[in-house]
Amino acid sequence: MSETASTLARLKALYDCEIPAGEPWIHEVRRGQHLRIVDVHGNQAADTLFYNALDYGERYSAQNTIREQANIYVTTGTRLMSSRGNALLTIVADTCGRHDTLGGACATESNMVRYAIQKRYMHACRQSFLKAILEWGHGLEKRDIDHNINFFMNVPVTREGGLTFEDGVSASGKYVEMRAEMDVLAVISNCPQLNNPCNAYNPTPVRVLIWDPMD
Ligand SMILES: [Zn+2]
Repeated sequence: MSETASTLARLKALYDCEIPAGEPWIHEVRRGQHLRIVDVHGNQAADTLFYNALDYGERYSAQNTIREQANIYVTTGTRLMSSRGNALLTIVADTCGRHDTLGGACATESNMVRYAIQKRYMHACRQSFLKAILEWGHGLEKRDIDHNINFFMNVPVTREGGLTFEDGVSASGKYVEMRAEMDVLAVISNCPQLNNPCNAYNPTPVRVLIWDPMD
């Protein structure tokens, strides 16, 4: 894993918002703008979806992203590819070093299967995604919730190809920053999961900043 820092100053950001623990966030990012997500307290998964802001039928594809770079981890240099083979965003800085795009988002159904039937009433990322896109409107609905990236989440793959959830590789203040290659709609579920170590059993806020294109 390698770490790459950004040169952008926080004070020059045109948008700066804290997403409370367990809450969703939805916002457009224009082509050329930089989007930074900060793991404020450390070990907090930020489940994220991206769409072409002008055509929601084109959205993030984990499969195309993995094939394009021939690597399963997401980090600096990764082009986040769409379902139509276009780059949505490019990761330009990453002080965490690696992010997951295999594990998917937590859901009430998977919580029941993985943990216990009583867990079905616990809040989950898919509900946060649904809440965000329905409130956003413009025709987005449940069927549009597709592949996601789990920023700051550690899902190492074993030699045998198995997926494991482990304690985070992230820490307080780590961030990932990407440049939008087209106008995109970004949707984040600041993961409320309490049943595995993806949030260190204690969901905390993440911070989102946006800068205009650099000269
Ligand atoms: Zn989650």
